[in-house]
Amino acid sequence: MRQGLDKDLIARVLDAAPKYTIAELEAMFPPRDLPDGAFVTRFAPSPTGFMHLGGLYGALIDCKLAQQSDGVFMLRIEDTDTKREVADAVKVIVDSMNRFGLKYNNDEKYGPYYQSQRKDIYHSVVADLLARGLAYPCFLTADDMEKIRSEQSAAGFATGIYGEFARDRDLTADEIIAHLDNGEVPSIRLYSNGNPNQRIFCKDAVRGSIGFPENNEDIVLIKSSDGLPTYHFAHLCDDHFMRTTHVIRGEEWLPSLPLHTQLFRMMEWTPPMYIHTSTIDKIDEETGKQRKLSKRKDPEANVAFFLQDGWPTMAVLEYLGNIAASGYEEAKLKGAVKSIWEYQIKPKKIPMSGALFDMKKLEWWAKEYIGAMSVADLVASVTNWANEYGTDDNKMQVADAKYLAGVLGIERDNPKRVRKDFVTWKQTLENVAFFWDKLFVPATDYEYNRDVLKEFLETYNPADDKDTWWNKIVAIAEKTGVKNGDVAMNLRVALAGRTNTPDLYSIMMVMGGDMVKERIGRVLNG
Ligand code: GLU
Repeated sequence: MRQGLDKDLIARVLDAAPKYTIAELEAMFPPRDLPDGAFVTRFAPSPTGFMHLGGLYGALIDCKLAQQSDGVFMLRIEDTDTKREVADAVKVIVDSMNRFGLKYNNDEKYGPYYQSQRKDIYHSVVADLLARGLAYPCFLTADDMEKIRSEQSAAGFATGIYGEFARDRDLTADEIIAHLDNGEVPSIRLYSNGNPNQRIFCKDAVRGSIGFPENNEDIVLIKSSDGLPTYHFAHLCDDHFMRTTHVIRGEEWLPSLPLHTQLFRMMEWTPPMYIHTSTIDKIDEETGKQRKLSKRKDPEANVAFFLQDGWPTMAVLEYLGNIAASGYEEAKLKGAVKSIWEYQIKPKKIPMSGALFDMKKLEWWAKEYIGAMSVADLVASVTNWANEYGTDDNKMQVADAKYLAGVLGIERDNPKRVRKDFVTWKQTLENVAFFWDKLFVPATDYEYNRDVLKEFLETYNPADDKDTWWNKIVAIAEKTGVKNGDVAMNLRVALAGRTNTPDLYSIMMVMGGDMVKERIGRVLNG
């Protein structure tokens, strides 16, 4: 076995003696006391200030698998890229989690949950690798690496620091000391024993066992610039000591799996079970082809879009849940479950590729969801949205809660015939805008039957019950020689400015006598 560095040299290389031994870390973060089969999962976003729909999808799967197995779901902030501004970016993530109802449980015992605060842990683990000759300090500068890279490219070799190109992998203690005396700060690299001509078998819960060429790159574990870990090394340390049982992450990480498996083996730790999820795709409007959602081109790639446009967050979740567990829609339609939280997601059935998120299909989920809401909940959701994201007109619409409840309560008392014309909170307020004089847009190209309207005003009594009201309509039809439906249509267009509305009697009851008379009078005097 290769000789590692001694204690004093490790302390010099890392700028301080490691704080813990591996045994101490194991004792500090013991295996969790959870029922058999409990999933411990984490959502581990990098704080970029942007929450991608694919991130929400992953977080939902994490949260669901933990929730349905009485496990634990954590939120870990992967803020090892110190060039980025973190505070506001974390707010974006936490806020999205709260609004979409993804509850995490960051038990202090297994924290901290910001990677930037876990340096002592990473340094302690890397010290162990340094002592065992499985990692080494590397003094290559950016210029050195650039030179190596161009030489490799010119010669047709794979680029990277490996084998003979890894200049510092076998420095003697004296050579290391000379570099340090010279004021150079090393990165810590993996001393890879992998041979790409051999295969390493790695496990993915959905894909099963996958063979990869072994990794031979001496990848960076600890960066020289700030002493923080790379993603790979942080993943090893954090998911071990946080006792993560299942790592659910995007398929872009699949190529790193041999490296991660190698790292876990070096530490003799059991790796978590991996589930690499599909990217979230859409059908491109121009080409008609399925492609990845693009942060740049597709507003719906950003979770904030759904909040701003007032999509019911639960409908978005339900749809994402149905992508992860395709049997959910059927179970819900059958009435077997009420929401995705009651449905068991099967890890092995999570799609490996081709997960399609179609805005038209989302509309269906939203209509279903809003259709099943109580009036009080609908009023509350629309009001909250309007006050946060709406225009001044939207705010005006929600100012009188009682009136709004009347407007939104129309045709919601028959559970067998649920209204399906509301999609988002924003569109709901647009849909019912004609109930407010300021927003009402009269129809300009409708040919009214003025006799019908005149007759109506003459006999109209706002206090009439529905039968009396209807009998009057029938009488007007007879007197003016048109069909009952024509009478109703003339009234509908006069009141709403359009030909398609819910129940006319209810509209009049909500508007009240003055508004009804004023709008019909407006047509007659126009
Ligand atoms: N910070 C990584 C990312 O945002 C996390 C991947 C993982 O879940 O391990 O892609």
